[in-house]
Amino acid sequence: MGFTPMIQQYLKIKAEYQDCFLFFRLGDFYEMFFEDAKRAAQELEITLTSRDGGGEERIPMCGVPFHSAENYIKSLVEKGYKVAICEQVEDPKSAKGVVKREVVQLITPGTVMEGAMLDDEENNYLAVVTENEEDHFSLAYTDMSTGETFVMAIDNGWNAVLSELVNRPIKEIVVEEDFSQLYAENLREKLQFPVSIAKRSTKDNSMDLLVEEISDTNLRNTCILLYQYLYHTQKRAIDHLKKAQVIELAEYMTLDMYSQRNLEITNSLMRKEKFGSLLWVIDRTVTAMGARKLKKWLERPLLTKSLIERRLDLVTGFYQQFFEREEIREALQSIYDLERLSGRVSFGNVNARDLIQLKRSLSKVPMIKEQLQQFDDPALHELARDLDPLPELYTLLETSISEDAPISITDGNILKDGYHAELDQYRDASRNGKHWIAELEQKEKQETSIKSLKIGFNKVFGYYIEVTRPNLPMIPEGRYQRKQTLTNAERFITEELKEKETLILEAEEQSVALEYQLFLEIREKVKQFIPALQRLADIISEVDVLQSFATVSEENNFVRPTFSAERRINLEESRHPVIEKVMKNEQFVPNSINLADDKHLLLITGPNMSGKSTYMRQLALTVIMAQVGCYVPATQAELAIVDQIFTRIGAADDLVSGQSTFMVEMLEANHAIQHATENSLILLDEIGRGTSTYDGMALAQAIIEYIHNHIHAKTLFSTHYHELTSLEESLTALKNIHVRAEEIEGKVVFLHQIHEGAADESYGIHVAQLAGLPDTLIQRANTILSQLEGTEQSVQPVPEQKSNETNVYSMGQMAFFASEEPVKQQPSKKNHEIIERLNKINLLEMTPMDAMNQLYQLQKKAEELKGRN
Ligand code: ADP
Ligand code: MG
Repeated sequence: MGFTPMIQQYLKIKAEYQDCFLFFRLGDFYEMFFEDAKRAAQELEITLTSRDGGGEERIPMCGVPFHSAENYIKSLVEKGYKVAICEQVEDPKSAKGVVKREVVQLITPGTVMEGAMLDDEENNYLAVVTENEEDHFSLAYTDMSTGETFVMAIDNGWNAVLSELVNRPIKEIVVEEDFSQLYAENLREKLQFPVSIAKRSTKDNSMDLLVEEISDTNLRNTCILLYQYLYHTQKRAIDHLKKAQVIELAEYMTLDMYSQRNLEITNSLMRKEKFGSLLWVIDRTVTAMGARKLKKWLERPLLTKSLIERRLDLVTGFYQQFFEREEIREALQSIYDLERLSGRVSFGNVNARDLIQLKRSLSKVPMIKEQLQQFDDPALHELARDLDPLPELYTLLETSISEDAPISITDGNILKDGYHAELDQYRDASRNGKHWIAELEQKEKQETSIKSLKIGFNKVFGYYIEVTRPNLPMIPEGRYQRKQTLTNAERFITEELKEKETLILEAEEQSVALEYQLFLEIREKVKQFIPALQRLADIISEVDVLQSFATVSEENNFVRPTFSAERRINLEESRHPVIEKVMKNEQFVPNSINLADDKHLLLITGPNMSGKSTYMRQLALTVIMAQVGCYVPATQAELAIVDQIFTRIGAADDLVSGQSTFMVEMLEANHAIQHATENSLILLDEIGRGTSTYDGMALAQAIIEYIHNHIHAKTLFSTHYHELTSLEESLTALKNIHVRAEEIEGKVVFLHQIHEGAADESYGIHVAQLAGLPDTLIQRANTILSQLEGTEQSVQPVPEQKSNETNVYSMGQMAFFASEEPVKQQPSKKNHEIIERLNKINLLEMTPMDAMNQLYQLQKKAEELKGRN
């Protein structure tokens, strides 16, 4: 036995949408069958049933009611699945055989439009990645709900692509069929993106207009693939898509993915949420559009001084006039999400309430314009000049849509009286009829003397006169026709009432139908304003971000930064913007930060918890804030424009992944070293911790030297290898700074004050002492330390040496043991030389670094010797 025609229809459609859940409309339900049904039942926790489909076995089935489908769809899409909505596309009554069905829309994580599935303050991107040749990619991403598209060329390898993708609200990635399997897996597994495969059609040229300004063929094709995928999923015109905007990555600061994460710019490391991030501190935007724009700005700090200064000028304008700014903030509060509204207009799913909101928003624009003009700063007047309150659109909405219109657009009561003559006529007819009925009720009450008589209406029987049972005898003979019997009452009609009813119902039906028609027309008219609305949205959101910068800057005592031509960094009383905000009872201790081309490397030493990492990060955050156009947390700020920021946060602080291996550490360090320029900022926090002491220290030193000699990038390097501080003698651009622990009333206290010079090497012992360890123990530790440092003339044997701790930390001792190795070879002249030199070494007068160097020399000699034999 074959399947029933309906199941056959299902299978045929399903074959085209294999990677989706197919929501198959059957009456008031969306049904799913076969494997879809089993998986959906599991994912949605709904009951799995079965039905006879004509085959041998019953078919697994599950379904969700049409009217509550949105929540189920949302839940699937949030899990990264795609849903194909298959509707009945002909009237079941007139259909011959199986009702015709078609997929009318695909809902995928990257293309959702429905308000309930979107986060107001965040974009929702669909991205396309194509590989043009090895290590050369194009990346485009679009937000369907707002219509914006960005496209860029990435010519420095796959990691750079990943850096662009992570930390952006990208919900789905589309690649071509022949895209590298390896990379696609990378996206799926490592970054957990839903990846869809699509094919670019070369015949379809309907998108040409959207890409006409892109000259690069690769970028064009990437955008076209993206747009085609959108049309394929939405299956309708999408008028609000803006032209793709090409992003020249070279015009923005590069923040690799490690830095974006480590610096907690938009999300905190621990909880992966906005709270505790830089965004959390500086977001005082009022509108959702502003919140989204702020995030975009933060993700791409500027490099061009004039653009940065322009933003800062505007912020200064807002900063200086508190009252005017407060007024603007207040006005912004009633501005609706114009960007997403435009999207919904184009999509055909706005209702009358949305349009009322739109009207109210527009009504505030003239006020904002005027308010902007009241600022002293002419820069703000320019913003005002570009604001267009769209009076024509306002008038259209004001004259047409009723203030208390319902959500439904098919039940009437949307439009105002006086908007349309014919509509008014129908409404009059229906109102007159209703008036007549009200009068009839009065008349019948009087004439029959039945006080409780009333005229009612229901959908099945229409209008009726209702009389309760005890009053029935009072009705004069033949006055009414009996219509319906209830337990306590009888319902009647009269000829006259019937006639009026027909008139009223006809008028109502016509008025509802006409209203719907008129509403669609209005919606079409609003569509023409989409580009203008988007421009308006753009300026409003910019005003919002700028006022937000001014507001936080004033509230948190930030200062306007200047940019020095000599590329100096001079921060007076610099603070960490987030930590100072979350500190409860304590005060954040400000510190100055000074870097210049001839002193571009700061080596920071000091005990744990003294504030080294904080100090480093606050510089990076300050630089980012300045380059997005915000004031910065300091009392005075002279900055150099930074092209890239690299961070390597040591294993100790790497709480996020918890899997930081030494290899990862080295990869990140390598990444910085390969890409940094003299204009970059590098933060290396306790690098080398992930391996043995000697190894780690050797690498740390080599990295510092390399940066010093070859890169000249501004660099902050914190370390627990005290030995490295001696580098200050040989590396002219390196400066030691340190943080100390102090004793206050017998307690260990970190004052978090940065001082010049290297930390006192015995800070560990100092802390131990402050912590209250026995005096004898502290004394002994001091003795051991000075022995290790070679400050005493002879090495005293350590009584009862059980611990091997000391060995681990002492370079000097390693050298010492090395000399005890028995020399097996018959000593040649050269051998003698090596042994002689070994004997001459006074370990106790050497620094560990010296010991290391000597060993290295000796080993080289030994190598040479081996080569000769
Ligand atoms: P380190 O890297 O030296 O181990 P951290 O930078 O992680 O130290 O700082 C440890 C803690 O000290 C931070 O969580 C913060 O609460 C506090 N802290 C750091 N710097 C300051 C400061 N300048 N003022 C006040 N508290 C600070
Ligand atoms: Mg630290």
